[in-house]
Amino acid sequence: MRILLVEDDSMIGAAISTALKDAAYAVDCVKDGETASRTLETGEHGAVLLDLGLPGRDGLEVLRRLRQAGSKLPVIVITARDGVDERIRGLDLGADDYLVKPFDVNELLARMRAVIRRQGGQAAQLLSNGRVSLDPATREASCEAATALLSAREFALLQALLLRPGAILTRAELEERIYGWNEEVESNAIDFLIHGVRRKLGASVIKNVRGAGWLVDKAK
Ligand code: CA
Repeated sequence: MRILLVEDDSMIGAAISTALKDAAYAVDCVKDGETASRTLETGEHGAVLLDLGLPGRDGLEVLRRLRQAGSKLPVIVITARDGVDERIRGLDLGADDYLVKPFDVNELLARMRAVIRRQGGQAAQLLSNGRVSLDPATREASCEAATALLSAREFALLQALLLRPGAILTRAELEERIYGWNEEVESNAIDFLIHGVRRKLGASVIKNVRGAGWLVDKAK
């Protein structure tokens, strides 16, 4: 899943970005509110980590505009401010969760899994369509009798499909969810990942619709 990180402090931004990449997310970073709002209009991201104290347009204003535009994108507010009023305002404006800096990166990752799960309409820890299951905490996947540990990219691919079971995702849509701005994407990268997931979990785990894209079965 591709995450937009909005953070003007370079050191904090780099630390969060590294932790997210290690946890199989693709990450794009911006440092000010105007750029954040413009970037969010592209609809390319699956969730946002939003600092509140930003140069120019602040994080609360970015959030307000996003929700005003009708977006349901999961937003976790990350802020150094300890004012309780501000946190309440953030939640009232439609933030899904918040973390006060400094925070433990494992807590951030757990909260992200939770908001992404709820976004997919699932309260359970496992992402599943009834046949294929994926554990975002461990990257372990199963399909019928097969169980395997997926690589970071394989996980991102299967997660993208399992968040929308029954929907065909094109090559461009999958690339957009798996890779960040600064990453070089080989033309056969998606085929390579699908091959990897099928090798581990069986050929039927991901279906191909020729000329259109790929999908996993609709949830039963
Ligand atoms: Ca800041």
